Amino acid sequence: MPELPEVETIVRGLRGAIVGERIQAVDIRLAKIAQAPPGVDFARALIGETITGVTRRAKYAVLELASGRRLVTSLRMTGRLVVGKPGEVAYPGTHIVFTLKPLKTLSFADIRTFGRMRLVEPGDPWDANLGPEPLEKAFTPEAFVSMLSERTTSIKVLLLDQRRIAGIGNIYACEALWEAKIRPSTPAKDLSRAAMIRLHGALIEVLSRAVEMRGSSIDDYVDADGLRGGFQNVLAVYGRLGQPCTRCGTPIQRSVLAGRGTWWCRMCQPRSRKKIRK
Ligand SMILES: [Zn+2]
Repeated sequence: MPELPEVETIVRGLRGAIVGERIQAVDIRLAKIAQAPPGVDFARALIGETITGVTRRAKYAVLELASGRRLVTSLRMTGRLVVGKPGEVAYPGTHIVFTLKPLKTLSFADIRTFGRMRLVEPGDPWDANLGPEPLEKAFTPEAFVSMLSERTTSIKVLLLDQRRIAGIGNIYACEALWEAKIRPSTPAKDLSRAAMIRLHGALIEVLSRAVEMRGSSIDDYVDADGLRGGFQNVLAVYGRLGQPCTRCGTPIQRSVLAGRGTWWCRMCQPRSRKKIRK
């Protein structure tokens, strides 16, 4: 499932290819993928719109339109945004095709059909429930510490909660916790302040490095040009059950937290000593 680094890579790729283009036609092949506010016809509203920007918020790729509307795309498990040419052999599961000019298309493909493209009106607070972006200035160590204090939820489950921090999924939660030497099952409130600050730094470090390496190609993620990422080659724990920890050589463990596979090193990520309470 694409997380912050993968969606950021897709968005950067799209930016060069489709900003400034005008939508000439919209072909919807699977109706449930294309969502619009009540009374608005998705295709009709988009024809004639010019794409003025491509941005990312959390795990969403957002097409900014000249009218102030936005096209908010969630890729979920297997969604892809692909720039191509009309009549080209389409990716399997192509559900929406935007014709941008006689020789250019933008397609949304999704084999598992969980992804969506949602047309959002200007001023709609569509992202109001999403937490801060971990690579932006508002995500300070202090903000992170106050987010974690008094929370009984395990730290890994909390990292995945998009209302707290936006864009982190299973891969980068596991990787950042290993980097910060924190056991994923630790209740957030039991982390020392030093551990919280270490994790804050680890999240920024791991996410930045993954963006630089154009994301992780696990399953079938590819960027807007159909290219695979590079971070899957340097993963420390995710998906590495039984393989030696790159820091200490201990075989990597796998457990399940809140229904999600969780990889970690029992030597490098020890049980945290509970904070002494009055
Ligand atoms: Zn280790």
